Amino acid sequence: MNTATLSYKKNGSQWSPKFVVSLDSKKCIACGRCYKGCPSGVMELSSEEDDEDNEIMFMQLVKDGECIGCKSCAMVCPKGCFEHIN
Ligand code: SF4
Ligand code: SF4
Repeated sequence: MNTATLSYKKNGSQWSPKFVVSLDSKKCIACGRCYKGCPSGVMELSSEEDDEDNEIMFMQLVKDGECIGCKSCAMVCPKGCFEHIN
């Protein structure tokens, strides 16, 4: 992962992408906000059965290499599931 990427805003000031590092599926409530807002198709809704055969839905990172570092996912997530590079 390139942590030294630097870009520029329209006004010429510097901007540094904050690429996604992880998504804590244990905290996720599967609201879908991050999925709807991600411009790069990085997330996908998944499910698994718990010990009582209940289906548990959660989001996970499936193509994090496509992340452009916009941090939209972190801004809309109500549970603080995301970690990004600083
Ligand atoms: S930082 Fe932007 S591109 Fe990357 S996973 Fe989040 S919403 Fe998608
Ligand atoms: S926004 Fe957060 S809580 Fe909602 S689906 Fe995405 S990771 Fe899960």
